[in-house]
Amino acid sequence: MSSDTPPARRRVILKLSGEALRESGSRDNISPEIVERIANEVKAAVETGRVELGVVVGGGNFWRGASASARGMDRATADYVGMLATVMNALALQGALEHKGVPCVVQSAIEMKNVAETFIRRKAARHLSEGRVVIFAAGTGSPFFSTDTTAALRASEMGADQVLKATMVDGVYDSDPKKNPQAKRFERVSFQECIAKRFQVMDSTAFSLCMDNHIPIVIFDLTKPGNVTSALLGEPIGTVVDAEE
Ligand code: UDP
Repeated sequence: MSSDTPPARRRVILKLSGEALRESGSRDNISPEIVERIANEVKAAVETGRVELGVVVGGGNFWRGASASARGMDRATADYVGMLATVMNALALQGALEHKGVPCVVQSAIEMKNVAETFIRRKAARHLSEGRVVIFAAGTGSPFFSTDTTAALRASEMGADQVLKATMVDGVYDSDPKKNPQAKRFERVSFQECIAKRFQVMDSTAFSLCMDNHIPIVIFDLTKPGNVTSALLGEPIGTVVDAEE
């Protein structure tokens, strides 16, 4: 490689849970201040020119299909409500990014022409290679899936190098750190172990899809300032989930 050749850009999918956009204890589902903080961190990473970024947003700050179904609602209908919830989060994030001058599009898996582009794989890939952030809304477009699985799916379709799962804990533990003060955090753990031991940090469909498509997952704490930027730039952080050696 000549010294003039720019380093290859990483292509990553950032998974933001809906809960991450809510201020704890607040009645508001979306905190504009938190969304702005995330947008600032995304901007800092994107402006280095070293990363192509797709974002999958969850909807759990508004609604979760499985919980509504447990209370008697038809599961598929409840899941469609959940997918629509993700669109609200996607629009909030898009607004904050655009306000900061970060080029950004929302692509929705459920057609919603007035507010978002419809998800088209080749078009999304083109946005990424041209430096626009793509926010993937409405999950996979199908009920019975999660937005974690959506992140694994979009990462596979986009040929991403990593899935970055931003969450409220700083990695994968061998037991629940809230219940067991002796719980040990892994720096690295295999897909196989996550699936076999049913670690709750992501669902098994998401783990399997990433495992089959050789896409490592980084699980990190979103609440610590600077972490989103660090994760996007590939700095060591949280727990890496990848294949067994
Ligand atoms: N959902 C779905 N299909 C998908 C993605 C999401 O039906 O492909 C629904 C499901 O009801 C889910 C809700 O959307 O509970 C919100 O997504 P998720 O629970 O993954 O959000 P998060 O926990 O990340 O905030």
